[in-house]
Amino acid sequence: MERRGLEIRQNIEAIKERIRKAAERARRSPGEVRLLAVTKNASLEDIRAAVDAGIRLLGENKVQTAKTKFAQIGPAVSWHMLGHVQTNKARPAAALFDMIESVDSTRVGDSLSRAARGLDRQLDVLVEVNIGGEEQKFGVDPGSAPGLCEYLEKLPNLRLRGLMAMAPYVPDPETVRPFFRHMRKLFLSLAEGRQGSRWDILSMGMTHDFEVAVEEGATLLRIGTGLFSVPPAGGHA
Ligand SMILES: *Cc1c(COP(=O)(O)O)cnc(C)c1O
Repeated sequence: MERRGLEIRQNIEAIKERIRKAAERARRSPGEVRLLAVTKNASLEDIRAAVDAGIRLLGENKVQTAKTKFAQIGPAVSWHMLGHVQTNKARPAAALFDMIESVDSTRVGDSLSRAARGLDRQLDVLVEVNIGGEEQKFGVDPGSAPGLCEYLEKLPNLRLRGLMAMAPYVPDPETVRPFFRHMRKLFLSLAEGRQGSRWDILSMGMTHDFEVAVEEGATLLRIGTGLFSVPPAGGHA
């Protein structure tokens, strides 16, 4: 397991270096960009190795698998829910996760706020935007995001922090730059009039396209494969 731990540590360092370079190109401070490890396909051993290497933000797509992993990994980390929230899972989701990145309807918002109230807590949330207008993906269309944000802000037990988006998968990540740019515009326009609140998270960029996302203003990257997949044989000295 020690060799595996080393591999993951190297993956993390390599990604951080690429984040640093992308931030530099965009004249941003690398400190503005946080790295979340997506653990949906990772083993417990691998997740532990990532936490040992300093990762403090973890993301899961399902309530049930998160429950098991959370119990094993312990409370030293912060968990984000990335998958679609079924309203009948709102209570366990609100109990397990520190942030729900995937709120895409008033209905989901209502059920999360109600669940959080029952747990006597405030729950951080992001609005998921379906930036590519893809039918198979969740999220609101960009035009409906402002209205949903306004609605969620009035709910007593939610704390709206920003936006999340997943760009369409295309072979050349350069192709999705306009989508990320559009997200940043939306994020900034929604920041107006929200000075008193914490509106500070733009979650976009995955293994395949995170450098473009950093260049276009992401503050939170969600990376799975790039951290946990085995590097190509002989790829590293
Ligand atoms: C799986 C997943 C990711 C990570 O994708 P990778 O390509 O493995 O980096 C990020 N965000 C969401 C919502 C996901 O479901």
